[in-house]
Amino acid sequence: MKRHETLPLVPIQRGEGVWLYDFDDRRYLDTVSSWWVNLFGHSNPRINAAITDQLGKLEHVMLAGFTHEPVVQLSERLRELAPAGLGHCFYGSDGASATEIALKMSAHYWRNSGRPQKTQFISLQNSYHGETLGALSVTDVALFKEAYGALIFQNATVVSPDSRDAAEGEDARVFALRCAAQLEVHLQQHHASIAAFIIEPLVQGAAGMAMYHHAYLRRARELCDQYQVHLIADEIAVGMGRTGTLFACEQAAITPDFLLLSKGITGGYLPLSVVMTTDAIYQAFYADEVARGFLHSHSYTGNPLACRAALATLDIFAADDVLNSNRAKAAYLNRVAAPLRVHPKVKNFRNTGMIWAFEVDTPHADFAQRCFSLALEHELLLRPMGNTVYFMPPYVISEREIDFLIGQTLKILDRLGC
Ligand SMILES: *Cc1c(COP(=O)(O)O)cnc(C)c1O
Repeated sequence: MKRHETLPLVPIQRGEGVWLYDFDDRRYLDTVSSWWVNLFGHSNPRINAAITDQLGKLEHVMLAGFTHEPVVQLSERLRELAPAGLGHCFYGSDGASATEIALKMSAHYWRNSGRPQKTQFISLQNSYHGETLGALSVTDVALFKEAYGALIFQNATVVSPDSRDAAEGEDARVFALRCAAQLEVHLQQHHASIAAFIIEPLVQGAAGMAMYHHAYLRRARELCDQYQVHLIADEIAVGMGRTGTLFACEQAAITPDFLLLSKGITGGYLPLSVVMTTDAIYQAFYADEVARGFLHSHSYTGNPLACRAALATLDIFAADDVLNSNRAKAAYLNRVAAPLRVHPKVKNFRNTGMIWAFEVDTPHADFAQRCFSLALEHELLLRPMGNTVYFMPPYVISEREIDFLIGQTLKILDRLGC
């Protein structure tokens, strides 16, 4: 709060498409999709209409002992679209609650299966899976954890296949497999106590958009099968088309035991999360004794308004052939960004689907803040992580808006003396 004395909050009055407008009618291009949630722009007429229609019918009903049309439809649609075998949906209200649900369900599965000693989890170095206590326990960001060390449970991390760490000239795939070999060693030694391996497929967002080769995921799936450890794919940020396919796991042609979705699932409108899982997991809870069941609830689980926003979002994917049109947009952005790629102060320019990132060689320790403030003056909402600048724009961004984004970013780098 003290920082805001010199860096005031930006009050936003309205949004339209990729633009946010403040009360003086200054505009900002939302290059981070309001923290990675927005897909089809602010105030999207089709999502607005779906929510408004639902509002006239049913705003909410509890999802215990009751059900409703939007949640049934959404579950069926997701089952059809997700990697084969993920036929069961459990709803939560945000990303962190999806992580909690998956961790609990995994450990409870092993307990129900006569292996109660499997209670540990592993994650990648620099992983991010949310900030409630359980999720924080599998998150590897020191700044977020430090103050709560005594409250969270300890879990091991394994080396991240982040391509930036590859040896000079080493192929990303070769490097990914080299990292997977370390996962293998860890599983070999500890599998008897490990319930699950949780991972952000293809891109580790909070690690600074660390991107890696899908060969790692394929190998991780094999190893998890071999050592009887669940694979939890946290697609909260990378699902819903972000990496170029509807789900990132598709690129490795794998089915995880748990698939977590949130953020973009409602197009960035309302909080909702879903944990998709397999029949094998479902069956372990299918019993007469109540204690074998998965007893976990959130008041707003499967909220009908949020489900309708999600259904409208899926409708847009189908009607507008979004994945193909994103491929064309990504190619266009990569062409326009050529001067950025070769900029003397820019390193590791990289792209996966509709995510771009690069590091800036800067003398300023407070680069992120300076860049954020200067970007606002240049009509961009840019939110660097350390010296990593990234673009994760809403999919409705036009070619003209892409030109603007790249042109302004180059000006900002010049002004910062980078
Ligand atoms: C944002 C995020 C979460 C947490 O979601 P919240 O809705 O913010 O709790 C978990 N995992 C990943 C990969 C995320 O990007």
